[in-house]
Amino acid sequence: MLQFSLQQVLPLETATKERAKSLLPGHAVVVPLPSDSPLYTREGVSHVIHVLGPNMNPQRPNSLNNDYTKGCSILRETYTSLFTGFLSIGTHDETVADISAPSSTYGKVTGDKSKLEGPTSKSWGSWAQALYHIAMHPEKHKDKLLEVLDDFVVLNDLYPKACKHLLVLARHEGLDCLADVHEEHLQLLMTMHAVGLKWAEKFLHEDSSMVFRLGYHSVPSMRQLHLHVISQDFNSNHLKNKKHWNSFNTAFFRDSVDVIEEIKNHGKATIKDEDCWLSMELRCHRCRSAHPNIPRLKSHISICQAPFPDALLENGRLVLAPKHN
Ligand code: AMP
Repeated sequence: MLQFSLQQVLPLETATKERAKSLLPGHAVVVPLPSDSPLYTREGVSHVIHVLGPNMNPQRPNSLNNDYTKGCSILRETYTSLFTGFLSIGTHDETVADISAPSSTYGKVTGDKSKLEGPTSKSWGSWAQALYHIAMHPEKHKDKLLEVLDDFVVLNDLYPKACKHLLVLARHEGLDCLADVHEEHLQLLMTMHAVGLKWAEKFLHEDSSMVFRLGYHSVPSMRQLHLHVISQDFNSNHLKNKKHWNSFNTAFFRDSVDVIEEIKNHGKATIKDEDCWLSMELRCHRCRSAHPNIPRLKSHISICQAPFPDALLENGRLVLAPKHN
């Protein structure tokens, strides 16, 4: 049985009161938890569904007085409402915010239509322009940059999702995301990969136990094509939610080596933009075991020593120190 402290349930109580003054038997109320709620951050609980069944207890108000026909009908409504509420969570949860970056999203938003609506809409919100500004005016951001060249810059991710997390940022105007990449960008992609690899190898030289992966988000939250160079420890306080994890550990993350092959062979990259990738169950990227929430997943990956899956070990998708090869 789960036991919660007062401190854990208070934000839930406030959120519940905002949603519903009282609860009618048979009608579920879905309450999304605030992202700073301890239930959310420590237990990974994103929503609580409240539902009241039929009252057959004469000691309590509004008893059904042994009217089992009515009781069965309310019970049916109760379960229907509960499951409908549960299913609605997926659609309520379309805002897949990188909560470390104010209101950034991966491809879809609810509510504020002034923001991004799709990877090709080109209507990027102001919050999604930071990388674009850095790419276009590196001279104004010298203190943040690790490397500046004509075609790209290299910088530390501001909200790293692992011990080492760099971005190789293209500087070409009009190249916002993978969907904009075509055959003529092949050389640029190969150079970005080579630069990412160079940085990964530098880090491996300092710590040979690290493992890196280089790739692109199918639908980025920030404008201006950028390659993620990310260590596979995922040891970071900025990795806070399922979307963060799944954006680096499902098919949503497109390995740079695969993107290059696709551009060579078909002139465009495959984009795995379905919502399902980001809302998938949490699975360890090494042993593939499933975990109920981010804190449990993180404590598992901090000790999991299982070999990486074969698919990741093939074609140079993972970058390891020479002794591992
Ligand atoms: P993506 O989802 O592929 O667009 O990833 C964008 C990345 O940019 C995320 O990993 C953010 O943590 C990172 N980010 C957001 N703002 C900045 C910034 N101003 N400087 C560097 N990295 C940033």
